[in-house]
Amino acid sequence: MNQTTTITERRGAALAALSGRPRPGRFRKLRHLGPTPTGPAGTERPCLICHHATAAPRTACGRCEGGIRAMLREIDAQRPLLADLLTPGSAPAGPRTAATGRAHSPMPVRGDVLTLLGAGATTTVPDPHGDQSGPAPLDALLEGWAAAVAAELPELDATPLRRSGTTWSQWLTAYLPQIATAHWADTLHSELTAAVRRIRSMTATEPRRRPQDAPCPSCTAFALFATDWAPYIDCEACGLLLTPSEYETHARTTLPNLARLAILITAAHHTTASPAA
Ligand SMILES: [Zn+2]
Ligand SMILES: [Zn+2]
Repeated sequence: MNQTTTITERRGAALAALSGRPRPGRFRKLRHLGPTPTGPAGTERPCLICHHATAAPRTACGRCEGGIRAMLREIDAQRPLLADLLTPGSAPAGPRTAATGRAHSPMPVRGDVLTLLGAGATTTVPDPHGDQSGPAPLDALLEGWAAAVAAELPELDATPLRRSGTTWSQWLTAYLPQIATAHWADTLHSELTAAVRRIRSMTATEPRRRPQDAPCPSCTAFALFATDWAPYIDCEACGLLLTPSEYETHARTTLPNLARLAILITAAHHTTASPAA
């Protein structure tokens, strides 16, 4: 019999060992989030996340909604990198003692990664003895928030389901318009931020921000950036969001004029700098 196992098989075995043995998460849910209060549509109110003005019934501005979308997308994009960390031997060696080397046998896989990728409770687990530790697994975190969304939408089942082949990140992305009007949008944002920060520290992979050539069409600052996994190009100066196609259209009309202006300025500078013949 071939005793060789591939990384994928070992990873699958490690995850299978966890599935069916739900690990209770220390944190949440379902909180009693309650219905989102409604106000007159169009009334200006501060975004719960960044405190810039947004219009009711929104509780999160378009920029912050884009931020949540990017984090959900990044969580899915980083999963394969996390799974790769389950390769046996990638765990830290642990404390050593002078006499015996390691104080204990090393775990065959990284426990912190298994915690994130494994199963977990989506509801708050009573923890009277304080023996629950570690962050909530990713799917438990996201499924818990899906349940929070479902609790506000009467047309949805109280226990949300996702189609096979899809992720909870995709489920939540589909309900972003509802999330951007929920009074807990800031709590979701901060929990996703913490989860993404934790994932980045494990995979040592951060999205790159690339400056764009054209100035912002709203504030004219050269502050437009495209970020990996983000669905929008954003302006750091005024917060404007542009879809890639909107930016392309804007750049096509703006950049040729800027190039012409640059040539004229260079020519004028050359003329004034050169001594008269
Ligand atoms: Zn905002
Ligand atoms: Zn701007």
